[in-house]
Amino acid sequence: MLRVHKIKLDPNQAQAIYFARACGVARFAYNWALAEWKAQYDAGGKPSETALRKQLNGIKGEQFPWMSEVTKNAPQQAIKNLGTAFQNFFRRVKQGGKPSYPKFKKRGLHDSFRADNGSDDITCDGKTIKLPRIGWIRMRESLRFGGTIKSATVSKMADGWHVAVVVDTWEYTSGRLGGGTVGVDLGIKEFATLSTGEVIPALKPHRAAHARLVRLSRSLSRKQNGSSNRAKAKAKLARLHLSIANVRKDALHKLTTSLATRFDTVAIEDLNVSGMIKNRSLARSIADASFAEFRRQLEYKTAMTGARLHVVNRFFPSSKTCHSCGTIHVMKLSDRVMVCDCGNIMDRDLNAAMNLEQHAASSAVSVCGENGSGSGRKTGVKPLSVKQKEAVCAD
Ligand SMILES: [Zn+2]
Repeated sequence: MLRVHKIKLDPNQAQAIYFARACGVARFAYNWALAEWKAQYDAGGKPSETALRKQLNGIKGEQFPWMSEVTKNAPQQAIKNLGTAFQNFFRRVKQGGKPSYPKFKKRGLHDSFRADNGSDDITCDGKTIKLPRIGWIRMRESLRFGGTIKSATVSKMADGWHVAVVVDTWEYTSGRLGGGTVGVDLGIKEFATLSTGEVIPALKPHRAAHARLVRLSRSLSRKQNGSSNRAKAKAKLARLHLSIANVRKDALHKLTTSLATRFDTVAIEDLNVSGMIKNRSLARSIADASFAEFRRQLEYKTAMTGARLHVVNRFFPSSKTCHSCGTIHVMKLSDRVMVCDCGNIMDRDLNAAMNLEQHAASSAVSVCGENGSGSGRKTGVKPLSVKQKEAVCAD
């Protein structure tokens, strides 16, 4: 399985200059290929990333000699990325959507370049990593997974340079502890309620961080456009956003690891993510992003531990059904307690989580680890394809 470990780098000045240059080459190649693609298409041609990469290789020595100052992977990978961008674009057009056409890249926005491990150009040794053309660079922590290093992508984030190392590894986290089946209800007020009664509070940024966020945004809005003070304030705000996101991601990782290692089956509701995108409040959008990330992490972690992930169809009325007698009630979002004539009085989210658990238990025909085989499909278990099982599990 391919896994990614993203680690902060501590480059020296020369290395940071090299990074910026390599990002520049990658961006130039991407924009060059995009312009070529458009021109060739308008002239009736059928452009492809493979042909464009060959074309660039043929002319770069003469026209762009400065490209050879950085790893040859940087421009090549950038054009491959453009190919992927077009693939996604055409797929969405086919699906009847109105995606935006691939855009030119701007300096300072998602700056990155990739190096592939062709002949052991990339190696890690403790808290250092060796990259092609540049040598050893200090890292903040050592690589978490053992295995073969496939590639390394260096990118600039609000707090400095990072490297995302892709490793082909067979080191799995420890297996399940035989905890049976658990239902997980996701919400806004509480992030998650488990059918065991555990409640994981909402992943809100810490109150102090929120106050800082408000103060920094206000300070930014008072700065003059184009001034260096504005740039400084902007960088400060971006760093705070990143650290808040990291806190949230960390909490999510702890929760999904705990679920995938403690239980044999984890039942969750399918979330209409594309429907959720058209949304309203900030709290809502943060929660939606967390839900999607929650599911993504749970998918690869259960695949690793061999637990079964049971995804219940979103039309299953988990919140409205009384867990004791099965009566379906009319419930508003503001009704926080399930009160049923049968005598069942239960917290709404706990009731929903217990229904999800029951749904998984009653359709538990597949052996643990075989995500959604046989009748599982009908009940909404999403089978993991081989590709997904080997999916890149980015941190
Ligand atoms: Zn009832």
